[in-house]
Amino acid sequence: MKAYFCDQFVLPLPLGHRFPMQKYKLLRDQIALFFPLIELTQAPEASDGQLALVHTVDYIEAVVKGQLSAQQQKEIGFPWSEAMVERSRRSVGATVAACQTALNEGIAGNLAGGTHHAYSNKGSGFCVFNDVAVASRMIQILWARQNKSIHSPAFKVAIIDLDVHQGDGTAAIFKNDDSVWTLSIHGATNFPFQKQQSSQDVALADGCDDKPYCLALKQALVELEHNFKADFVIYVAGADPLKTDRLGKLSLSPEGLQTRDKIVFEWAYERRLPLAFCMAGGYSHSIADTVNAQKNTFEMALFYWQKWQERRRSEATSA
Ligand SMILES: [Zn+2]
Repeated sequence: MKAYFCDQFVLPLPLGHRFPMQKYKLLRDQIALFFPLIELTQAPEASDGQLALVHTVDYIEAVVKGQLSAQQQKEIGFPWSEAMVERSRRSVGATVAACQTALNEGIAGNLAGGTHHAYSNKGSGFCVFNDVAVASRMIQILWARQNKSIHSPAFKVAIIDLDVHQGDGTAAIFKNDDSVWTLSIHGATNFPFQKQQSSQDVALADGCDDKPYCLALKQALVELEHNFKADFVIYVAGADPLKTDRLGKLSLSPEGLQTRDKIVFEWAYERRLPLAFCMAGGYSHSIADTVNAQKNTFEMALFYWQKWQERRRSEATSA
């Protein structure tokens, strides 16, 4: 299974900054150590043209040329630097690459990404560009090219966003777009305090734990399927619903989070929907808790990737 990383492009942060930047490198080390079947690949950069499928030219220029105002940088939560631009491009490129790979191989992942608070014209909440939104557009275009169709929205993308924070930027970007379904399951009282309207929102009470969470997820997938005929899934697998998370306010156990991942991967596998996934948030008091949860997501993904390959082989021999 292919997985794309960009942790070597480190974003310089002031001492004591609350964003756990080290988690990306730690995750790559864990994956390299435990999962030889996962092929780690450096993420390509997203081009200006790719970013412009979602973001305004003014905003892209402000980011690229270092012209973000102090207020814009504050809303993003990172100070501007050349490295921030490169890292943000690579993080988008990783999700785009994961989508392209998943289209052919069933499943692929990004060790970063899930920057769902970025809007078309502004960044927010540690998110500069919206990788999931750009990748949704790119995979529609790629599909149209492969199928010699001029109608790329015919390829329908379901975004299943299970980060504990609402995918507000993604919801706003696809608000009037029938070809992309945005499902967000998030904490009702958590950031962003002014929510956007996703295609489907499930707001959970503080303290929600494994059982009601997984039930809500299963019900949400039934509703999604009832309303939308997806061709492709992008899974935003935030590790911040964990009980140990500083920002999450929910109470999932590591096992509960594994069950969550299994529900999503199995749902897509059974429906033969290619799936790309990315990491999004994770701010546990001990960084090891976040990294371990993300490693578990990769383990579950690998299990279903192998099932994809087995199914292909057995169908090829029986054909
Ligand atoms: Zn989050």
